[in-house]
Amino acid sequence: MKIIVTGGAGFIGSHVVDAYIKKGHQVVTIDNLSTGFRRNLNRRAKFYKADIRNLKAVLKIFQKEKPTVVNHHAAIAEVVKSLKNPLPTYEVNILGTANVLLAFSQYGRGKNRRFIFSSTGGAVYGDPEKIPVTENTPLKPISPYGLSKVLGEEVIKFYSRIYDFDYVIFRYPNVYGPRQNPKGEAGVVAIFHGLMRVGKRPAIFGDGTKTRDYCHVEDVVRANVIGLRRGRNEILNIGWGKKISDQMIFDALAKELGFKKPPIYAPFKSGEVYRIAIRAEKAKRVIGWKPRITLSEGIRKYSNSF
Ligand code: NAD
Repeated sequence: MKIIVTGGAGFIGSHVVDAYIKKGHQVVTIDNLSTGFRRNLNRRAKFYKADIRNLKAVLKIFQKEKPTVVNHHAAIAEVVKSLKNPLPTYEVNILGTANVLLAFSQYGRGKNRRFIFSSTGGAVYGDPEKIPVTENTPLKPISPYGLSKVLGEEVIKFYSRIYDFDYVIFRYPNVYGPRQNPKGEAGVVAIFHGLMRVGKRPAIFGDGTKTRDYCHVEDVVRANVIGLRRGRNEILNIGWGKKISDQMIFDALAKELGFKKPPIYAPFKSGEVYRIAIRAEKAKRVIGWKPRITLSEGIRKYSNSF
């Protein structure tokens, strides 16, 4: 199958590209290399350096490639950045998504045309009253990034309805694993690990009780592989349904690396969700996905990848 992966030079997108190629698919990557890296690109995937905000460029690529599937990972994925200056996040995550959808509507080919999207369970629900959240939990984002993903989902539903292709929207938890950029804003595991490795104390924003749900990237990639065939116009949470605090991540990594110093406790950042856990029972029921790699296994795997 011909698949276009946007954001295929980034952390998660590059692993998705690798998995699709391993399965024998023909993969084309679009990325502007703003937070992605050439070294993440799979040599067996055709690469276009392009910005999804540029409709003309996107249309040209789609006209040439005529994909059956689009796996859309390109985005500005930083909460604090989106709070300081929201417009670029809206432009890439909403208008850029609309550009990709428009091009796919026009040039997508094949009977099983589908659009797979990486939304975020960690930001679209905001600070929910009840956790773990299900897909029916009200969407109340508290950052422009979260809002951009909510609107991205709506744009996808609209184009799918009008142009008659299927979609699968995954709402990810915090994803961690090899290739995550330790210099980025997100990715607590990569940031803490990157600092501890060189003997520096990581900063915990708040008192360490802020929680997230964590999945290893291999589990997330497996959802994207299953999503090529299963799930028709579905929104599916991805996660363990477990609250993992920043302190727990710090402690697990410190144990793994034999790091003896305490963290620095810095002021909590507003716009960040305080408490979340993401229930993925629906993904299990609808597409047969459930997470496999526990946090301790995942952290060991991550540490061993260096
Ligand atoms: P990443 O920054 O590593 O990957 C994003 C990729 O998109 C990068 O390669 C970047 O260069 C590319 N990109 C950005 N703007 C672009 C543009 N205008 N045109 C073309 N390419 C562009 O981030 P990631 O962590 O791999 O996230 C991938 C996707 O998963 C994003 O959509 C993100 O919102 C979503 N997501 C990630 C997490 C997580 O924990 N990492 C959680 C929830 C959702």
